[in-house]
Amino acid sequence: MDEDTPDWATIEGAVCLSHIVDTSLRESVGNATDRSCTICGRAAVGSEPAFAVAWDIVVEPFMRAFWREYERPEAAPTPSDLEDTTWAVGYLAQYAFDVSHIEAIGSLISDAIAVDEVSTYGAAISADGLSHEWDDFESTVKHESRFVFMGSDGPSARVQDFLRKLGELASDGSGLVSHLLPEDPLYRARTVAWDWSMTAKLPTSATELGPAPADRAAANRMSPAGIPMFYGAEDEATALNEVGAFSIAQHAVVGAFYPTRPLRMLDLRTASIFASPFDEQHLELRILLLFLEEFQQAISRPIVPDGRQHIDYVPTQVVAEFFRRAVNPPLDGIVFASAHTGNSNCVIFATDQNVANNGAVEAERSVGSILPDADYPEVLLTLDPSSVVLRRLVHRVDHEALGRFDGSRWSISEGNRYSLSRE
Ligand SMILES: [Zn+2]
Repeated sequence: MDEDTPDWATIEGAVCLSHIVDTSLRESVGNATDRSCTICGRAAVGSEPAFAVAWDIVVEPFMRAFWREYERPEAAPTPSDLEDTTWAVGYLAQYAFDVSHIEAIGSLISDAIAVDEVSTYGAAISADGLSHEWDDFESTVKHESRFVFMGSDGPSARVQDFLRKLGELASDGSGLVSHLLPEDPLYRARTVAWDWSMTAKLPTSATELGPAPADRAAANRMSPAGIPMFYGAEDEATALNEVGAFSIAQHAVVGAFYPTRPLRMLDLRTASIFASPFDEQHLELRILLLFLEEFQQAISRPIVPDGRQHIDYVPTQVVAEFFRRAVNPPLDGIVFASAHTGNSNCVIFATDQNVANNGAVEAERSVGSILPDADYPEVLLTLDPSSVVLRRLVHRVDHEALGRFDGSRWSISEGNRYSLSRE
C-alpha cells in the first residue's frame, strides 16, 4: 500500500456481498466468509452458507480509491477547496454500493476517517484535479502558445500527452466509438430572417443548409473561423435549440441529412464515459475518461455569441482538431449530449464539399464526368429536401426567480450558483 495513504479506524462486523455493486471492488474483496450483515441486519439461519464479507476487507480497497481521489485538508490551497468528508465518501460510495443502503454505508465509512474535510486538490485522480489541468490548458492555448506544443512539461505538454493516449483510446470496442448509420437522420438548422415575401429565398438545398464555405465559416465550439464542420442533432428540437437559444432570429429552417456510409464517431455521451474508481488495473483510463467528461461539458455548454468565441473556443477546437486529424483509424466526428435537451448532438468532420442533396451525386456522375471518383470530395451526408421545414423560434421567459434583490444586495437561489459561476 501507498505509504502516504492515511489511516482509518477499524469497522466492526461484515457486509452482504450483494450490497457491493462495483465489479472491481467486488472482485478485490474475494469470497463471502461471514454470516451476518451490519447494514441490513441479515443473519444466517441454521447452516446457511456465508453471504457477507468483513468490513475490514471491504474498506481497504475502498480507502485506497478514496485517497486516490481525495487529499488531506492540508493540501487545499483555500478553505473553499475543502469539502465535507461525508459528502466525498457518499460521492464515491454511490458507485460502490447498492443505493438502498448508501446512507448507512456512507456514514459508517466516513465515521472511520479521522478528518472531517478533504480536498480533491493535489489528489492523484480527480475530476477537479483535471479541472485545474483543463483550466491550465485553456489559459495556455488561449493566451500563450496556441499553435505550438513544445517542451516536456507544462500544461500543453501534459495535455498533448493526454491527447496521444486519448487517440489510442478511440478504438473500436473501447465503448468510446459508435457508428451513425445511413438510416439515422441528422437534423441541421439555420436561423433565417423571414416574412411571406422572402419564402422563395429560404435555404432548401444541402449547400444552403449545410456547412458554410471555408471563407465564411464562423468560429464555433469545435471549429475555428475558416474551418467548416457540420453540426447536427438527432432530433429537430435539439438542432433548433442549438442555433436558436442565443439568437435574436425568429425563424429557422431545419432539414434531415443522412450519412452515405456508417460514420465512425467518438462517443462522449455520459453513458459511455465511465471507468470504475476501484478498478486498479485501469487507473489511467479513469483519468483519461474524466478528461473526456470535462471536454464533453466544455463543448456542450451553450454557445453565447458575445464576441468572445474566438478566444473561448480555442481549447475545444484544439482537442477537436486532434480527433479530426490524428486518430487512426480516422474518426468522422464526435457525438455528445446537448446542454439544451440532453439528446445527441454531433459534429461531423465535413465541409460544404462533403454534403449534397440525395440523388444529386449519382445524377452528376452518370452524365459522364472525366474525373475519376477519387478526385471528388467524398460525400458524407445527403439532405432529403422533402424533410425541410420552416419553424418559428419561441424565446420564452422562465418564471422561476433565479435571484432576488433585497434593496441592498442580491441573493441567488442555491441551485443556480454553480451554473452562474461556470459561465
Ligand atoms: Zn446486508
